[in-house]
Amino acid sequence: MQKEISKIYKALVFGREVSLAVLDTTALVREAIVRHHLSALSAAALGRTMTATAYLCSWLKAEESALYVTVAGDGAGGKISVSGDGALRLRGYITVPDLVLPPRADGKLDVGGCVGKHGTLRVVRDDGEGIPFVGTSELLTGEIAEDFSAYFLTSEQRPTAIALGVLVAPNGECLGAGGVFLQPMPGASEEAISFAEEKIGLFSNISALIAEKGAKRLLEEEFGVTDAAVREISFRCRCSREKAASAVLSMGREDAESLLEEAGEIVVHCHDCNTDYLFGREDVAALFGGKKK
Ligand SMILES: [Zn+2]
Repeated sequence: MQKEISKIYKALVFGREVSLAVLDTTALVREAIVRHHLSALSAAALGRTMTATAYLCSWLKAEESALYVTVAGDGAGGKISVSGDGALRLRGYITVPDLVLPPRADGKLDVGGCVGKHGTLRVVRDDGEGIPFVGTSELLTGEIAEDFSAYFLTSEQRPTAIALGVLVAPNGECLGAGGVFLQPMPGASEEAISFAEEKIGLFSNISALIAEKGAKRLLEEEFGVTDAAVREISFRCRCSREKAASAVLSMGREDAESLLEEAGEIVVHCHDCNTDYLFGREDVAALFGGKKK
């Protein structure tokens, strides 16, 4: 079972009328759990959103094109923010990383309670060609898959059947995470749309299927696809010590020094990957000293 690298597989099915994508994002979610110290529930909410964002990123034209997804609901988990680029490098966070709620009646994690049923899903897509595209839709269930389906329908006029899931063991380890997307091509027949809607019902347990079989075997067994196009997905942040240093510089010497006086050091925090960049007295002196020349 190869779970070390997250991947997206894409192919055309149903007489090339439906675009199919199967994602194994286990490694991506594992990295998010480690970086943000996520509870199982917060991991499920963030992991499902990251999986959907990876799918959206796979349609970006250029590697440097950027995409920003915000799920802002009224649930106990707060806001989810995920961004990525055309090279499928993603990062993201959830406001409450350690949320615990009682499970739903069916025993599954209560992602809807974490995210909330009222609020918005917003996608900003920047192709680097002028004004970015902004699409917004209302949350339906807070379970993420249905919310993205609603987004595709209302904002991009593309009916899309989606299954998303994250399976976390009692010890907090992610055993499997991924998703299936079935998107009829523009002008597809009614049969193609029904095929997508019916087929998605087989994947209500997608995280367990990914854990057990992996994405490649699912493609073969469920769709007869053996020649899917495959790309790797990674957790990669854009932050760096250099960028953090320029944030310190932008404070101005006086403010930086008074903060230093107060706190002993300056901490620049990156929400996306939960990294702290620390600047002590000598670092700050070097930063501003260099600027004076
Ligand atoms: Zn970062």
